[in-house]
Amino acid sequence: MYIPRTDTSIHGVGWTVKIPKLAPSGHETITARAAKGLSLSTDELEALRKGVRDPDLVPLRPVKSIVWRMAKKHCFPSTQAQHFLRRHPYQSIRKAYEDAIRLLKSLHGKVGKKPINFRMAGRALHLIQDSFSPAHTARDAKQRIIFIRNFSCIGLSKAPKGHGFTDERDKISVSSKSATHAVAASHAYLRLLLVQEGRLRPALGTPGSLEEFIQRFLPLKGSTVPSKKRKPRHGPRPRPAPAPSIRTDPTPGFFYGLRRGDTLFDVARRAFGEGSLSFAKIINNSRFNQRFWGTTPAGERSWFPNGRISFNPRFICDVEAQRQVTGKAPGGRCFATIWIPPKADIEPF
Ligand SMILES: [Zn+2]
Repeated sequence: MYIPRTDTSIHGVGWTVKIPKLAPSGHETITARAAKGLSLSTDELEALRKGVRDPDLVPLRPVKSIVWRMAKKHCFPSTQAQHFLRRHPYQSIRKAYEDAIRLLKSLHGKVGKKPINFRMAGRALHLIQDSFSPAHTARDAKQRIIFIRNFSCIGLSKAPKGHGFTDERDKISVSSKSATHAVAASHAYLRLLLVQEGRLRPALGTPGSLEEFIQRFLPLKGSTVPSKKRKPRHGPRPRPAPAPSIRTDPTPGFFYGLRRGDTLFDVARRAFGEGSLSFAKIINNSRFNQRFWGTTPAGERSWFPNGRISFNPRFICDVEAQRQVTGKAPGGRCFATIWIPPKADIEPF
């Protein structure tokens, strides 16, 4: 929510939309940074820029009704979700969250796939970016949303709990944590659109669907797992051991997402300091990794007679889906996320 301010001396960027001579750019800067490296055309970038500004601006003519139209954009309960805010101070956080997510899904539907409607994508980005502004929400250390503020044009809500009329928390340096997260989320959203359009290949560990995107970047604390009715149980509840996490370098006792150019012996060497056949076998023959076995290349049959991990990107991108399966991992366009056993026969689950 941005009211044009009269000082131009701020060198950081808030989430404010740039209005010549009045307010500094915020959404535009975040969006431009997010689009870096994605090879969007000048027209596409311009459409994005317009879209990300849409929720804050109204056309300047006719002059007569500017104030009324601005009020409609910012003050009405029905427009709060577009800025990731609560309808009114009495709406519950969960309901406000659901409103915003519903709106994001509807915008995402209008973005379409072929061709991408970048103007609409910009509007979706506005909502995503606002969710990182401390003037709009509060997030915990794990970036889960724990509070959603309300903005009231008639003074019902005030900072710090609400979003102030001109809120200092909207003025944020581009290097701040919130801005960095907003850029990262916007980048991931744009990537997702390009993957869906078929212009980019999916990358391991990046959201492959809007649902995954929401879980990753817009999680509401306490509701990441859909609430199911619990069956009454007898006796103590068995606690599943936490799954080992994924490392960016092959490390014994952790998962490792294969990358282009990796080979079995090289992974073994990086994990154990030695790329010998015995270490390669420990990795290859792990019960968990057998889901990624393909036909052994002719020259390696004597070492891996039963099958060898495929180092091609032929698996489903959802790492959870790779993990949960019994039998062969489902097909797709991503690399395997393999288990690096600390020693033979030690399995992750
Ligand atoms: Zn906004």
